[in-house]
Amino acid sequence: MQRSLVLLKPDAIQRGLVGEIIARLEKRGLKIVAMKTMQLDETILKEHYAHLASKPFFPEIVSYMTICPVVALIVEGPNAIAALRNTLGATNPLEAVPWTIRGDYALSIGFNLIHASDGEEAAVAEIKRFFKEEEVLNYNKIDSNLL
Ligand code: UDP
Ligand code: MG
Repeated sequence: MQRSLVLLKPDAIQRGLVGEIIARLEKRGLKIVAMKTMQLDETILKEHYAHLASKPFFPEIVSYMTICPVVALIVEGPNAIAALRNTLGATNPLEAVPWTIRGDYALSIGFNLIHASDGEEAAVAEIKRFFKEEEVLNYNKIDSNLL
């Protein structure tokens, strides 16, 4: 069983797509084990996007990601990390295939709606960065044996 951090970015909130995106994650079979709204700031973004902090477009990412709150979730499931990345689609929505979230709802890399962890190590670090232990709930779904 794997867990991943998911962020529904400010454009998901601004465009009223939060429910629709979460519905897709639920329908994929992923279990929500934590969820909250959060206002991000430059400090947490410099950690979260450390691999991009030196890029010329980093200030634009900070403006985008701080314009309003995000919805942060932890989702769980078998191979959740790869399943999520497939469900999101490519980082650049123009390269994301139809029936993915970015392929269906986004047009530009600067507004691509959703973040998910890109590997197991990143998932552990990101979950710790965004959630306190007591915010994560452990429970069983009655249909979990079907997954
Ligand atoms: N990003 C951008 N321009 C780029 C590359 C990335 O605006 O040329 C933003 C975009 O919002 C992307 C985020 O930075 O989702 C993180 O980039 P990463 O390569 O980690 O892509 P992701 O994991 O989100 O698919
Ligand atoms: Mg990434």
